[in-house]
This record gives sequence, structure tokens and C-alpha cells, in this order.
Amino acid sequence: MRSEADLEPLFSHPSHDADRGVLTRLRQIYEAGGWVLVESGVADLPADLRWLYEADAVTLPQLAAIHAAIGATSAADLAAAVAEHRIRPIADAGLEVEERIGAALPNLRALVPRMALGRAAALAEPFLAALRAMAEVAWAEPTGSLRRGEDMVGDIDILAPSADPAAVLAAVLRLPQASRMLHRSERRIHVLSERAQIAVRVPEPPHAGAPQLYLTGSIGHIEALRAHAQTRGMTLLPSGLVTSDAAKITGPTEDEIYRALGLPCIPVEIRHGDGEVAAAARGELPQLVTRGDIRGDLHMHSTYSDGRDAIETMVEASRALGYEYIAITDHSQRSAASHNLTVDDVRRQADEIAALRQRFPDIAILHGCEVDILPDGRLDFVDQVLTRFDVVLASLHDAAGHGPDQLLKRYAAAMKHPLVSIITHPTNRMVPHRRGYDIDYDRLFEIAVETGTIVEVDGAPGHLDLDGALARRAIAAGATLAINSDCHRAELLDRQMAFGVTMARRGWVEPRHVVNTRPLDAVRDAIAAKRGR
Ligand SMILES: [Zn+2]
Ligand SMILES: [Zn+2]
Repeated sequence: MRSEADLEPLFSHPSHDADRGVLTRLRQIYEAGGWVLVESGVADLPADLRWLYEADAVTLPQLAAIHAAIGATSAADLAAAVAEHRIRPIADAGLEVEERIGAALPNLRALVPRMALGRAAALAEPFLAALRAMAEVAWAEPTGSLRRGEDMVGDIDILAPSADPAAVLAAVLRLPQASRMLHRSERRIHVLSERAQIAVRVPEPPHAGAPQLYLTGSIGHIEALRAHAQTRGMTLLPSGLVTSDAAKITGPTEDEIYRALGLPCIPVEIRHGDGEVAAAARGELPQLVTRGDIRGDLHMHSTYSDGRDAIETMVEASRALGYEYIAITDHSQRSAASHNLTVDDVRRQADEIAALRQRFPDIAILHGCEVDILPDGRLDFVDQVLTRFDVVLASLHDAAGHGPDQLLKRYAAAMKHPLVSIITHPTNRMVPHRRGYDIDYDRLFEIAVETGTIVEVDGAPGHLDLDGALARRAIAAGATLAINSDCHRAELLDRQMAFGVTMARRGWVEPRHVVNTRPLDAVRDAIAAKRGR
């Protein structure tokens, strides 16, 4: 077993000033769209601080002094310290540095390398599981961009309130996933796990609400809350809410602070600072779709294409999740997937599904497919084949070198096809490696409404597509959504559906907007209505 001494606290000794030339070059690579794993003393700084340094806002000794004095590891810490003028009294820092940090913070979001939500969630999971299993820990939750479900996450910051911080920090250090300690103070530890930075903070349980709210952010949300507090004669600080009679409200959870502000607890996924606080004040928050509203999953793969598991395995896993229905939707013949469904396979697959329907009468198994939209806008199966499927999903996997207008034309042609029920992952982005298509999505959503085509929110961590912002525009246009897992392995069905629900929630999506919150008959009706046009 490793001892704590094996885990050298690098951040406490920022003497190794890295080669600026190398860093500049790495930054150029990063900005050119690549992702860089930096191995240097600077790389071991928490990401937000590292990029403050990269942006030439501060020197390493200044960062070290700020870190030592106030323990700042994130942009949220720094924003709080700037707001409360806690940086200027620090030796080696001073007023000028405080102002430079304040000026750099708004740009930091664009500078700091982020990791994909799926990776961040997977990295945080063993830490959360271990903390939640500890009797000493009141609760354990991520904060920041991970808790808000942003598709790209900065540092992972976990809150685990406890009256026994030493025991909690020791348990974190014992985890095999904690490969190196970067910083430790009485109630906080900062470790590396697979080169990502994970902070665990251990506030006192009666006062955990204030850091929970503040660290979850976003900065825009906190600013809107602060303005709302001011109208009520209160002041919102990182350390709590100061009421008009000078009482400080911290609370065991953030719910107490929202309550004292006269607001319901605002769902984390919509804390963007773009109207949610005003909506909450008016009592007009949306009733966001939840994982529990989802009755079935209309997009998953099997060994008939590039899925890892047999249809039977996918069916059994879906039954275990309590789904009322699923659709098996393998890739069409010319798709770029590693293995595709041939026309011959379609009949075999239909027979196999018919047999499984006999064996598992408690779940409806739709025979579907994910058909490619070809460069000329036609579909990758002829109509005589497509008509054999219960549901057809159409996908634009291959841009074929086309520009935005041509891509939209291909989508439009597919959506006008009566047998196409759902457009999958419309931007076809690949998180974090490839941006989505730059097409006129408002027009795409209009065509979806005109043609009765459902638009997908795909929860596969590489897709997360539509994202929250586009999902919000889709429902504003009146489109109906499907939230699907696009799962290729049975054990990930639940996880990927949960990511899809998170994306939809970020778009203010309610159950009424989502076809697969409805009973099977309503789903069949939606498909039949378009086919009958
Ligand atoms: Zn696909
Ligand atoms: Zn798929």
C-alpha cells in the first residue's frame, strides 16, 4: 500500500519554471484544435490556474502566493477572491495582479482545456462512490461544469461535507485512482487521476450549502442570484447569504439559500444565467424531463452492426431498466460503421426479434434501423426494405465534403421521406474531436415540424447531440424530440440515456416535448401519422 509520503505535493513547490517556448508551442497545437497532455510542473497546476499563467496574467510565484493564501484552485475560487478583494493584500500579488486576474477570468473559459463530459463523469465516479460509502460523509456531489452537465468539463471538483475531514482526505488518498497529490489543506485535497485534476472539498455539514451553490455556478447564474438578492436587501457572498438583519445563511445544502432568496431550487442543468432566475422568481420554471419520465429507448445497436452485444442481451438489459419498449436500430449497408446490416440480415434480424417478442412479452421490441443519408439525399436502403422496419432513423454520418446548404438539403430530403421517423444526432459532432455541421438549425427544426419528423437528443458521450442550446431552439420551433442512448453495449444503456436526459434538461425540455416519455401506442401513432401522409 502506498503511504501519503509517496504522493509528493507538487504544487507547494512551484520552483520548476517550465520552458516558455515549449509551452507556447503546446498552446499553438491546442489552439489549432488538438488536445495536449502537458507534462511539466506547470501542467500540474489546476487547469484554471495553469491557463491564467499561460495567458500571461500572473507569474508562477504570484500564483503560488495566491494559492497558499486563499487556496484558490479554480476560476470560481479566483472570481470569488477578486470580488471580495482578497487578492490585493497578498504579498507577491497586489492590486495590479488582482485587476489582471479579474480581466483575464472572462476569457479563461475559452482558454482552459476541457475534457468531454463522459470522461469527466467516469473519472469522478470512483471518488463519488467511495465518498458516498463513508459513514462520515453527509453526501457527495460534483460541482461546477460536471454537475451542470456541460458537454465539456474543466477540473473535477467534488463536495463531501463531513465533521471528520482528516478521515475523508485520507480515504481519498487511499484510492488507487489518486495517482498524485497536488495540494492538501485541512478541508481540501487536490489529486491527479489519469492526468485530470480532482479536488475533494470537505466543508462542515451545516454550512455546505454555500460552497455547493457557489462552486456549482455558473458565474452568470451566481451573478443573476446576486442581483436578485440585492433587490431583497440581501447580499450573496461565496460564504453565504447575508440577510437584511445581518444574519448569514449557509445551510446544509443550497436549497436553504434559494429558499431564503424566495426561490425554488433551480435545476443545475439550467443555471446558465440566461433567464432562469427571473423565471424562478415568477414561478415559471419549466418542469424539466427526468430520467424517470423515459419509457423506452428508440436507438441502440447490436452485433448486426457495430454493437458489442446480441439483441437478446440488449433486450434483457432494457427490461432490467424497466423500459416498456425499445428499438433495435443497426447501421445500414453502406454506413462507415465497422459492420453493417445487409438486406439479407434484415430478414434474419426480423425473425430473431419475432422470437424474442415471444420470450419477452413484457417489453415491446421495435425492429428499426439507422439508415445513412447518402450524398444525393437518398437513403441507404430502398423503400421496399425500409417499409419492413417498425421505425426508421436517418443519419448524416458522412458529410461527403458538402457545405452547409448541401448538408441541409440532404437532411430536408430525408425528413420529407414518409418512412423516416427520427433524425439522429443532427450536428454529427464528435466530442471533443470534431465540431458539428455548421448548418441553419432553425430551418432544420422548421422542416422537422412541417414533415412530422422527430429530432434526436443522442446521449452517447461522443455525440451529446442535440446539445442543450440546440434542444432549446428545437422545442421553441415546435419540434418533437426523442432522447435516446445510441448504445453499443448493454451495460451503458442507462448511463447514456442519463446523459441524453441531461442534455435535454439543459435545453429546458419538458416531458411533453419528448416522444419516448409517451406510451408505446402514442409512439406508434406518431410514426404511423407521418407514414400515412
Ligand atoms: Zn449514428
Ligand atoms: Zn447509432
